This record gives sequence, C-alpha cells and structure tokens, in this order.
Amino acid sequence: TSLFTAVEMAPRDPILGLNEQFNADPNPAKVNLGVGVYFDDNGKLPLLKCVQEAEKQLVDAAKPRGYLPIDGIAAYDKAVQGLVFGTDSAIVSEGRVATVQAVGGTGGLKIGADFLKRLNPNATVLISDPSWENHRALFQNAGFKVDTYPYYDAAKRGVNFDGMIAALNGAPAGTVVVLHACCHNPTGYDITPAQWDQVVAAVKSRNLVAFLDMAYQGFGEGIKEDGAVIEKFVAAGLDFFVSTSFSKSFSLYGERVGGLSVACASKDDATRVLSQLKIVIRTNYSNPPTHGAQIVATVLTTPALRAMWEEELAGMRVRIKQMRTALQDKLKAAGVKQDMSFITLQKGMFSYTGLSVEQMQRLRGEFGVYGVDSGRICVAALNSKNIDAVVAAIAKVS
Ligand code: PMP
Repeated sequence: TSLFTAVEMAPRDPILGLNEQFNADPNPAKVNLGVGVYFDDNGKLPLLKCVQEAEKQLVDAAKPRGYLPIDGIAAYDKAVQGLVFGTDSAIVSEGRVATVQAVGGTGGLKIGADFLKRLNPNATVLISDPSWENHRALFQNAGFKVDTYPYYDAAKRGVNFDGMIAALNGAPAGTVVVLHACCHNPTGYDITPAQWDQVVAAVKSRNLVAFLDMAYQGFGEGIKEDGAVIEKFVAAGLDFFVSTSFSKSFSLYGERVGGLSVACASKDDATRVLSQLKIVIRTNYSNPPTHGAQIVATVLTTPALRAMWEEELAGMRVRIKQMRTALQDKLKAAGVKQDMSFITLQKGMFSYTGLSVEQMQRLRGEFGVYGVDSGRICVAALNSKNIDAVVAAIAKVS
C-alpha cells in the first residue's frame, strides 16, 4: 500500500465531462451549448480590441514583474469599486468599501467565504435552487453548512419569488445569502427591481448577510443597469459582499481577473476588514498575478479604451439578445407548439429551456447538440451558422 492507496477517485466536473464527450463526438454538425463561454458569430472566443490595445501598451512599457501588493493593483481595485458602486458614489468617496483583486470571480467568492467563516463560523449559507454548480462546494470547503432557497419554478417557467422571500424571512440572523446580482446562472431568470426591494428589506429586517455574485455585469441590460441592485443594498445601509468577475465581460477567462468588495458602515470598519482580507490572501497564495488585472485597469482608466470596451461589451450583449429572439422565432416557425416566450425574458448567457433530461440526451445522442441535462443551454454559443441545426433538433425532440 502507498500513502495514496485509500484515496478515492473524485467525481468528474459534470460540465467539463460534457466537453470531453463533445470533443470525442465524430458528428461534423455537433454544436456545444454546454459551456459557459461567449463565442462570436463565427463560433470563436473573442479577443477584445481594447484588450489587444492595452496589451500592446503593456508590452511597449516593458515593466518588470515584481510582487503586487497583497490586495492587488491599487488602480485596479479602485476601478472595480467604480464599476460596482459608481465612481461618484458616497460609499466610495467616503472610503467605506474594502476591495481586493482576486483570482477570478471564484477567487473573490472564496476570499469572502474564508473571511466570513472567521467572522461568523456557525452561519449557514443559502444559495439559490438551482445555482452555479461551484457555489455549494466552495462555501462547504470554506467550512459552512450550505442550504438552498427556492428560486426556479419549473411549472411557471420563472422565479418562485414567494418561496424565495419566505425562505429569507424564515432564516436565522447571520445567515449568509448568496444572490446572483444579474444574469442568473443557470436559469437566466432575474428578479424584478421591486422584488429586489423586498429581498433588501428581508436581509435588513432578518439581519442576514448578503453576498452578491456579479459574474456578468454588462451582459444583461448594461453596465449601470446590471449594477443597479448594488445601490439598493447601499441605500439600505447594509454591510454586504460583492464578488466581481471579468472573465466574461472582458473575455479574459484564462487570465483569472476578479475581485471582492465589502461594503462597510464606516471607513474605519473598511480599513479593519481590508486588513483581514489581506491575511486570507496572504495565507492562501500570497499575492495576485499581474497581467490580467493590469489589462483591465488600463482599459478601465484610459477613456478611449474604456469607450472601446463598453462598445465591445454592448456588442456581445446585443448578439446574445439577437440569438434569443432568433431562437424563439425559429422554434415557433419550426412548429414547436409550447410557448417559448420565456427565452427572450431570460438574461445573460444561459437559458433554461424547460427540456427534460431525456430530451437533452436525445439532442446529444441523435443530433450532436450538447446542453446540460438540467435543460440549460448557453445562448452565447449560438450563432447564425448553427442556430438552424439547433432549432431543427429541438423541434424533433419536442
Ligand atoms: N459566479 C457565477 C455565477 C459564474 O457563472 C461564474 C463563472 N462561470 C463565476 C462565479 C466564476 O467566475 P470566474 O470564472 O471569473 O472565476
């Protein structure tokens, strides 16, 4: 026996497993709608022009690669705060936000989770049912008990808001509630501004801790629009957490660029919170990497590049919306009887199609159309060349 004889094989990541299956499929007409990645109309992962431009500048500047501060590039952290809370917001100008650079949005969630565990070790974490697959494991690995609050209503094809709000109103004080700030993954269904008001009121009256996961800012309705929910939590005077990801909005998946912001009641609180976030980072990976965050900081703080980014981001957002409309219209034209109007009500990269496990498996086996068994498809992977094949396949299994 070796040291590792008793080590069990861990289960495969279900979505990465789907990718492997896709790659092995000899069907020339296969379409991969399983991944959570934006592709352009040619089915290619875009490298944004603003990113190329910023990289050129960085290469020309030929800067040495010393260690970054533990909390990352100062200009980057400031730019993240501006995006999330608004550059002119009182909470930012009063120094009441502690922001750190993180290794992707996942890193932001994990730094926040580790800090929360020290702050309130006995809290339960509530995630939406369903949620991004990694939420549960991430908070469990940070030592928390993880439960769910109702979210998706399959029969209604929408959000079970009554169930959600009842769960929040029934949660004990200190419970951490993970909320998708916009573009809910995996369902695509967001709650309305009026419903957000009720969530904020519940968080406040029950003394809950909101943790907003903002992985898709700019993919729903716009940068400002998608960030509007943050203002509601600030206005209510709550202390809360926001994780940021630039993986999608800058198409910088592999650079691992994200952040964590903690909104505090005072500058003094923010200073002490920041000092603790830095300990979490220091004891995990010491300090973050330079390249991706430098690109994002350069783009966000250079007016011409920022304008370019906003346009390119709008381009991605608009293309997704066009694909939603096209999918809805083409399914109808293909004779699919059931009401598909939910497709254009959903936001962001994903759509819960309402298709069953059996239908999703038939799509894969008979037509080479790969989605997740839950019925989730990535609308951002549809394009003008593959959509007709996808529609034809869905029509056949419907
Ligand atoms: N939260 C949600 C809801 C996500 O969908 C994702 C990415 N798929 C993340 C967090 C993680 O983002 P990143 O890849 O930047 O770590």
